[in-house]
Amino acid sequence: MSNTIAVEINNISKSFGSIQALKEVSFNFNQGEIFGLLGPNGAGKTTLVRILTTILKPDKGSVKLFGNDITKKRKEIREIIGYVPASVILYQHLSAKENLMHAASLYNIEKKRANQRIEMLLKKFDMWEWRHEKIKNFSSGMAQKINICRGILHDPKLLVLDEPTNGLDPKSRQVVRDFILEINENGTTVLLTTHVMWSVEEICKRVAIIDKGQLITIDSILNLKSAELKKKDEIKVFVSGLIENKDNYNKLKTINWIQDVQHEDKKNYVITINGNDKVKELQQLLLETFSTIENIRINEPTLEDIFISLTKRVN
Ligand code: ATP
Repeated sequence: MSNTIAVEINNISKSFGSIQALKEVSFNFNQGEIFGLLGPNGAGKTTLVRILTTILKPDKGSVKLFGNDITKKRKEIREIIGYVPASVILYQHLSAKENLMHAASLYNIEKKRANQRIEMLLKKFDMWEWRHEKIKNFSSGMAQKINICRGILHDPKLLVLDEPTNGLDPKSRQVVRDFILEINENGTTVLLTTHVMWSVEEICKRVAIIDKGQLITIDSILNLKSAELKKKDEIKVFVSGLIENKDNYNKLKTINWIQDVQHEDKKNYVITINGNDKVKELQQLLLETFSTIENIRINEPTLEDIFISLTKRVN
C-alpha cells in the first residue's frame, strides 16, 4: 500500500430539507487500501458515497480523488471510479450480457475489449451460462452479481461498493470477497460500505465509522480493538494445556489480580483477570510457570462490539 492519498474528503455537509445527512465530515484513505466505511442505518454512508462518485453534490466541502477535485474533472473522475450501488441498477427487460454491453458503451470500452471483460467477469462470478437470460428472471443474488460486474467493467482505479454482499448466498459472498482481494492486489483501491462486520474484518485494515452524519472515528481495526480492550476492567483469558492439578490452581488463585480460575475440562481453563494492564503479565507468568501450555487466547472484542460501543445502538 502506498502513502499517496486516493480519496480526500474535506468538511462535507449535506442536507435533504430538514434532515442533515452529513455534518462536516473529513477523512482520507490511501491508494491501495481496502477501506471500510461503517455506520448504522441512516448514518449517511450512501449519501457520502454518492457525493464521492459525483452523483450528488455536497452543500459544503470538497472531495479530491487521486489529487483532483471531483467537481472539476467530472468526466475523467467518473472513468476512474467503479460504483456498485446497494440497489441493482440494471434494465430488467435486457439480458445480463446486453446490460453489460450497454454499460461498456457508456464507459467507452471498445467492443472487442468489452466482450473479453464481460466473458471474464461472468465466468468469474459463475454467471456465464445465464448471459442471455433477462435480469427480470434472476434471483436478487444473481442480479447483484451482474450489478457488481457492471461496476468493475472498466477496470476502475477506485471501486466503491455499497453493501455488495446484499442478497448473496455464502458461496457468492466468498466469490465477491476473493474478487475484491484480487483486484486490490492488482492495484485497485477499494471503498467498502457495509454493516456486515465480519466481511469488513476479513478484508479491511482501516475503517471510518460514521453515525448521525458525523465521523466518530477513523483507525485501523487493530487499534480499535486494542482501545476497546483497554476499556474493559474484566478480561477472560482462555488457556489450553494447563493440566488440571491442585498446585497449579492454587498458584494462580494466590495472585491478587486474578479474579477467577475455571476449568472447562482437564486441559482447558478460563482465567478472569481484573485490569487489561495485566494481560501481558499473565501470559508471561503462564508460559514461565507451566511448561504444558499449548495456547493462550484473549476474548478480543469483535468489530461488531466496537461498532455497537461507538455508535451506542444495535443495528
Ligand atoms: P443505510 O445503512 O440504512 O443504507 P446510510 O448510512 O446509507 O443508511 P443514507 O442513505 O446516506 O444513510 O441516509 C442518511 C440520512 O439522509 C437518512 O436520514 C436518510 O433518510 C436521509 N436521506 C438520504 N437520501 C435522501 C433523499 N434523497 N431525500 C431525503 N432524505 C434522504
